[in-house]
Amino acid sequence: MTLLNAPTPTLAGAFGNAVALSCRECGTRFELGAAYACEECFGPLEVVYDVPRLTREHIESGPQSIWRYRDLLPVPADVAAHPGLHPGWTKLVKADNLARELGVKSLWVKDDSGNPTHSFKDRVVGVALSAARQLGFTTVGCASTGNLANAVAAAAARAGLRSVVFVPSNLEAGKTITTAVYGGTLVAVEGNYDDVNRLCSEVAGDQPWGFVNINLRPYYAEGSKTVGYEVAEQLGWHLPEQVVAPVASGSLLTKVDKGFTELGKAGLVEATPYKVFGAQATGCSPVAQAFRAGADIVKPVRPDTIAKSLAIGNPADGPYALDVVRRTGGAIADVSDDEVVEGIRLLARTEGIFAETAGGVTVAVAKKLLAEGLLDPDAETVLLNTGDGLKTLDAVAPVVGPTATIAPSYDAFQKAGLA
Ligand SMILES: *Cc1c(COP(=O)(O)O)cnc(C)c1O
Ligand SMILES: [Zn+2]
Repeated sequence: MTLLNAPTPTLAGAFGNAVALSCRECGTRFELGAAYACEECFGPLEVVYDVPRLTREHIESGPQSIWRYRDLLPVPADVAAHPGLHPGWTKLVKADNLARELGVKSLWVKDDSGNPTHSFKDRVVGVALSAARQLGFTTVGCASTGNLANAVAAAAARAGLRSVVFVPSNLEAGKTITTAVYGGTLVAVEGNYDDVNRLCSEVAGDQPWGFVNINLRPYYAEGSKTVGYEVAEQLGWHLPEQVVAPVASGSLLTKVDKGFTELGKAGLVEATPYKVFGAQATGCSPVAQAFRAGADIVKPVRPDTIAKSLAIGNPADGPYALDVVRRTGGAIADVSDDEVVEGIRLLARTEGIFAETAGGVTVAVAKKLLAEGLLDPDAETVLLNTGDGLKTLDAVAPVVGPTATIAPSYDAFQKAGLA
C-alpha cells in the first residue's frame, strides 16, 4: 500500500529537479507520488535528484526563505509564487556570551524560533504542502507532537487547503491554542504521540488526504535540509565542524547531514569534515540509549518528559540518526528535565533567546558533551534552536517570575533593595 491516494497524475516539473523516490534500505526506485514505504522491503523512501550545476550567486539572488534552495528541493521552479508562509532564512546568531560561559571558542545558534509559526516545522511543511498541491490533495493532515500541527494548520489556512491535524491531548496550551486559532480541524487524541501516529497511519490509508509526515513524508523530510544549507551559507559558505541537533523522530538530524553532504557534492562548499551530535531528554531518549549501548536497533520507550515536542518513543528515523552520528564521529546524549529548564535559562540569560523545551535540551546536551570531552571546545560549533519558549511557558513558570512585587511607591522600591 505504498501509492496511497494520489488523486492526479504528477505533472512535469511539479517536483523540480527531483527524479524519483528511492528506498533507503534496498535502493529500489519508485515514481514520485504520495508513496513512503518500499514495495519490496517496506524501507522508507527518500527523494533523489538530478541537480544541474548551481552557483552560490544563483542561490544568493533567490528569495530570503527556504525557496532560495528550490533547485535542491522537490518543488516546482515557481514555488515562491504559490501562497505559503515562506519559512526559513532565520538568524544564525554568533553566541559569544554563551560561548564564554561554556568555554567554547566559536559558537553559533541557528534560531528557528524566527519562523512563521515559531518552529523549524514550517520548513518541512512548506515542502510537504507544495507536494500536496502538486499531487492534487485538498485536505492535509499530520500526526504531531505540537509544532507540526501548528505549522500545518497555519500553512493550510494560507494555501486555502483544509487541514485535519492530530495531537496528544496532554499538549501544552501554547501549542493547542496556537493551532486551533487557524480554524482547521484539531483532533486531540487521548494517548501519546506514538498512539497518534498509529491512528493517523490508519486514517491516511483510508482517507484521500495528504498527511505531511506519513504519505508525504519523503517531501516533508527534505524541508529539514534547508537548516543545513542556511547554516553553511550564513557561515560564508563553509561547513561548521560540529552541530548539535535535537532528536524526536530523528529526521531533522539526518537531513542536516544530507544538506551538508549535498552542498559539498555540488561544489558549493568545500567538503570539510564535520561531526553531528544528537540531543534528547532522558524521559524520552531511545536513540541516546541505543547510541550508548552500541546498538543498531532503537528500542521504543514510553515518553515522560517536559520536552513534549521531542516525545516520540518509537522514532522512525532513529536508526538513520545513529548512522549519521557514528559515521561523522559525533554522539547522542540525554539530559534530565531539570537540566532542560537550566538550558532554557542559560540561553535566555546569555543570548536573549527564549527557546522552547527542545532548545533547552540542545543547550543542556551541548554543555554535557563538553564536560564529557565529546564536543571539542576549540571547534566551530552550531546549536540548533528549533522552537520558541512562548509555546512552553509551563516549563519555566515554576522557576522564574518577578524579582519583587511592590507597592506603587518610591519608598517601596527603595525598601525592596533593587537599586
Ligand atoms: C519536531 C521537532 C524536533 C525534532 O524533529 P525530528 O525531525 O522529528 O527529529 C525538534 N525540535 C522541535 C521544536 C520540534 O518541534
Ligand atoms: Zn526497499
